[in-house]
Amino acid sequence: MSWEKSSKTQPRVVKLLKNSIKKQRLAHAYIFEGAHGTGKMAVAAVLAKTFLCRNTEDENPCENCTNCRRITSGNHPDVHVISPEGQSIKIDQIRGLQKEFAYSGMESSKKVYIVEHADKMTVQAANSLLKFLEEPGADTIAILLTEQVHSLLETIRSRAQTLSFSPLPPQGILEKLLEEDIPKPIAALAASLTSDYAEALEICREEWFAQARAKVIQLTEELRLRPDYCLVVLQDQYLSFFKEKEQLRLALNLLLIWYRDLLSIHLSQSEKVVFFDQLQALEQQALQMSQRKTGEALQAILTAQARIRSNVSPLMVMEQLVLRLREG
Ligand SMILES: [Zn+2]
Repeated sequence: MSWEKSSKTQPRVVKLLKNSIKKQRLAHAYIFEGAHGTGKMAVAAVLAKTFLCRNTEDENPCENCTNCRRITSGNHPDVHVISPEGQSIKIDQIRGLQKEFAYSGMESSKKVYIVEHADKMTVQAANSLLKFLEEPGADTIAILLTEQVHSLLETIRSRAQTLSFSPLPPQGILEKLLEEDIPKPIAALAASLTSDYAEALEICREEWFAQARAKVIQLTEELRLRPDYCLVVLQDQYLSFFKEKEQLRLALNLLLIWYRDLLSIHLSQSEKVVFFDQLQALEQQALQMSQRKTGEALQAILTAQARIRSNVSPLMVMEQLVLRLREG
């Protein structure tokens, strides 16, 4: 774990922190705010490591000294992580921290504490932490992590430097999903559906999602090869599968991505294709369907989505959509 990995997804934050380390101007308290999965904890760990490492080189931790190794394995006596117990972070947890810090550091005088989901502190806990922030030890860094910075007390926010973590671009989400051993066709699709990594991972882990993907691919094949049977297939196989409104919404999103891929092929941008393992089928379909028709199909899907949102019967919406797509 080092800066290098985090700088791929959060280059601005990493640059700023490394620069502060170089100039020996680290703040006593930081708020790392940003969506779940943007790497706040990873950056906090590297910051702690760099701060405590005995042999840093160019603001990078050595990964080898006792301090680095203990932080990596999560048992450094001078690095404390506080997380919600149940629904909240309670005052006793903050008091416990203060007690620990009353003793001088075991390894050195430097200490780091990280508060996960800092917005979950009870009012008492937050006020207790506030006193702590007001009288910082010279060699202490507080790092508060939150997905909801506006839920933190204003008094806490004004005593810390806030660093915003950007949402991951699709490519960043894709890479993280692949690290979790999600198959690439599934990961690519999920990454183009949401910019929230946690949500993408959850989608990928649902078996239903892979089935939905296969269904949508199959529907496009029916439309291309057996257009006369589409309505029958729709009733037999699709509407029972995409039962809930949410599921139908997802199906339409997948269909939208498919036709966007088709457009990418028309525009000779096949590197943008999300259904990359279906390239051959897409290319064949592109031969049968002009760029203009593809644009019309995209419009028809968007219209269907709007109608589902306004509670038109799914059966009617989908039948009309399939008829429109079949004309292509
Ligand atoms: Zn080290």
